[in-house]
Amino acid sequence: MTHPDTLTVHAGYTPDATGAVMPPIYLSSTFAQQAPGKHGGFEYARSGNPTRQTLERALAELEGGAAAFAFASGLAAISTVLELLNAGDEIVAVDDLYGGSWRLLERVRTRSAGLKIRYVPAGDTAAICEAITPATKLVWIEVPTNPLLQIVDLEAIVNAARKAGAMTVADATFATPYLLQPIRYGFDVVVHSLTKYLNGHSDVVGGAAIVRTPELAERLGYLQNAVGGVLDPFSSFLVVRGLRTLPLRMQQHCRNAQQIAAWLASQAGVREVIYPGLESHPQHELAKRQFPQGFGGMISLRLDTDEAGVLRFLSGLKIFALAESLGAVESLIAQPWTMSHGSLPEVQRLARNIDPGLLRLSVGVEHADDLVADLRNALTLI
Ligand SMILES: *Cc1c(COP(=O)(O)O)cnc(C)c1O
Repeated sequence: MTHPDTLTVHAGYTPDATGAVMPPIYLSSTFAQQAPGKHGGFEYARSGNPTRQTLERALAELEGGAAAFAFASGLAAISTVLELLNAGDEIVAVDDLYGGSWRLLERVRTRSAGLKIRYVPAGDTAAICEAITPATKLVWIEVPTNPLLQIVDLEAIVNAARKAGAMTVADATFATPYLLQPIRYGFDVVVHSLTKYLNGHSDVVGGAAIVRTPELAERLGYLQNAVGGVLDPFSSFLVVRGLRTLPLRMQQHCRNAQQIAAWLASQAGVREVIYPGLESHPQHELAKRQFPQGFGGMISLRLDTDEAGVLRFLSGLKIFALAESLGAVESLIAQPWTMSHGSLPEVQRLARNIDPGLLRLSVGVEHADDLVADLRNALTLI
């Protein structure tokens, strides 16, 4: 299976004894043992479930990792990965982080685990590398970042982290393994919100962590069971089902987003368009090297209007739904100021260039011309 399209259709599963070409959903919470401790690999569904295992194997294959672990949400995956650390450890993290990750680090783990977090500018690879010292235990990046779609040089970060003996984690939710596989660059852990592109149909909340080495697989597998935030069998099945069309969906997301970003950039009412596939993007050259298949389906933009104009624009959209989340077949629009990043204090949001005029598009797989028409119509209202 040399092509990702083929691998994605088959990853994690071969027909079982019944010949079922699609994985069955095992709802059983426990598994009969022949003798105490003698069983076929499953004993209790928190520690292991065949349907979840299918998904986990598929994710490990798609990311090129030693193992994958599925969790009840992206944040459950992230919080379990953070359990790899000890109390008081130091993290270097990019400053343009998903709001929920920031909240978990800043509002929960600094208090409950004494984690010390040093934030560095997400688009400045050199600054990130400089911030990594022998005291750093973990380097946390997003690629591309949420919501400003900044790109870091993965290779440079791995080199700096290895010198310092720090573990590297990439939240690659926006990229998906179809566009980028951080483990192939030497990253230790990749995390995903399965809720987004991997499931792709806005009907599951889930998360995953994929690890590079068997040693990390052992440690994170232990923590998955010990902490317990596992993904349920039905959701696991739905994500496997969604995953099968990931390449098809990503190709259309990328094509649509490229066309819409270029169109938006030529519109009078649009002050700024942020898309890694545009030459105007500050890391466009790096993005071309790291994302040879396409630049993803996310676009951020700033309108040339006031807050009332932004609200008129949003209310004029008919196809783009105003909603949290991203990465599914239908197009969504969000205002990070009040939505995904509303948990950050106002000064932090402004310092990170998140203002009320910033809008984030999750471009779906509808026809691009219809999406452009929807945006054109709403722009007349600003
Ligand atoms: C949504 C998201 C998360 C959190 O995932 P949930 O499934 O909502 O818990 C983490 N990181 C990124 C980049 C996200 O977009």
